[in-house]
Amino acid sequence: MKELELCKRNNSCRYCSSKNLESILFLGEHPPSNSFLKEEDIPKERSFPLEIYFCNDCALVQLLDVVSPEHMFGDYLYLSSTSRALKEHYAHLVTRLFKDFELGSNKKVCDIGCNDGILLDAYASVGDVIRIGVEPSSVHDVAEKKGHKIYSNFFTPEVAKKIVADHGKIDIASAMNIYPHVDDISEFTKGVKQLIAEKGTFIVEASYLIDLIEKKLFDTIYHEHLCYLSLTPVVNFLKKFDLEVFHVERLSFGASGPALRFFIGHKGAHEIQSSVGDLLTFEEGWGVKDMQTYKNFGNQVDRAKIELNALMSTLCEEGKSIGGYGAPAKGNTLLNYFEIDDKKVSCIAETNELKQGMLTPGSHIPIISEEEFLKRKPDYALLLTWNYLDFFLEKSEYIKNGGKFIVPLPEPRILP
Ligand SMILES: [Zn+2]
Repeated sequence: MKELELCKRNNSCRYCSSKNLESILFLGEHPPSNSFLKEEDIPKERSFPLEIYFCNDCALVQLLDVVSPEHMFGDYLYLSSTSRALKEHYAHLVTRLFKDFELGSNKKVCDIGCNDGILLDAYASVGDVIRIGVEPSSVHDVAEKKGHKIYSNFFTPEVAKKIVADHGKIDIASAMNIYPHVDDISEFTKGVKQLIAEKGTFIVEASYLIDLIEKKLFDTIYHEHLCYLSLTPVVNFLKKFDLEVFHVERLSFGASGPALRFFIGHKGAHEIQSSVGDLLTFEEGWGVKDMQTYKNFGNQVDRAKIELNALMSTLCEEGKSIGGYGAPAKGNTLLNYFEIDDKKVSCIAETNELKQGMLTPGSHIPIISEEEFLKRKPDYALLLTWNYLDFFLEKSEYIKNGGKFIVPLPEPRILP
């Protein structure tokens, strides 16, 4: 495949087509964050620009460089249902939906980007409802085997038309942690408009931009995540389709960190709740439309980079050994942007067996099992799953055996 086909660059805002875009932070050239690789594949590794932009017209924060989904997801298999926390999260949501939306055997739900059917499973365990899923990746097989009706496509207006022809309009459609990953979001949203019933609801869950900025979750910036959502740009974007947000909730837990949950319907179909106006006011006061808010963020990330490297250099000079702990996709944004490679971090402990024996993309640090890591027992471990700091401080065998974590963000520090 030619380089050109692997990555394309948009020259206007994904929501409002404005060209009035300003760079917030250029993170350099990175391989896709889930492209863990074998030693022999290093010569074939490709990197692409990772830079986030702010739209001065609609306030959408986004990437303009789009790596082709085929390249990113080629050998990549992520099963949502392996996350127990996510299962519980959806079980709570569905229990509530049955009550609030009076679901029953004559009602239809459709989860777009349903993965292995984790949300559809939750519907099935709570009550009787017609369950439809859309999933382009090979994991659609897993969902299908569980008895859900699956369309194995990328979601488009054509797919929406087909679903409606087969089953009629949908009462509750959803896109969990998918909506910000879609490049042609206008086509996707047109499809949603056609899909949902007159009084239907479209539920979106997505990481919340304000948490990203405030908690310095800059490592959640990677090629798969094309948009970083707040309510303000979404409200304006949906107007083009005669859709509107009628309720919004801030969640401390989402599939990749703190999130927003949007309830969207046809214009005028639902009473608009005060949560919408309240959050818009909050965002305005916070500075969601002000480029300066984001410039400060870029500066803080750069400061963390300098401080973490200084801390690690000091430990090296003292003759201490340093490993890494956890190999999540987001860890690769941090390693690559902070220029931390196998010379600074000798190996990384990871429980996911599929990643053991592989190298991290870009930084090429060997990934080993936790048992092997305990045998080698480096003096310090850079904690890449730092969002679960409390959990690992309490549960990790490495810490119980006298190890120490280097926590990279929000401020680099050593614990315990
Ligand atoms: Zn815009």
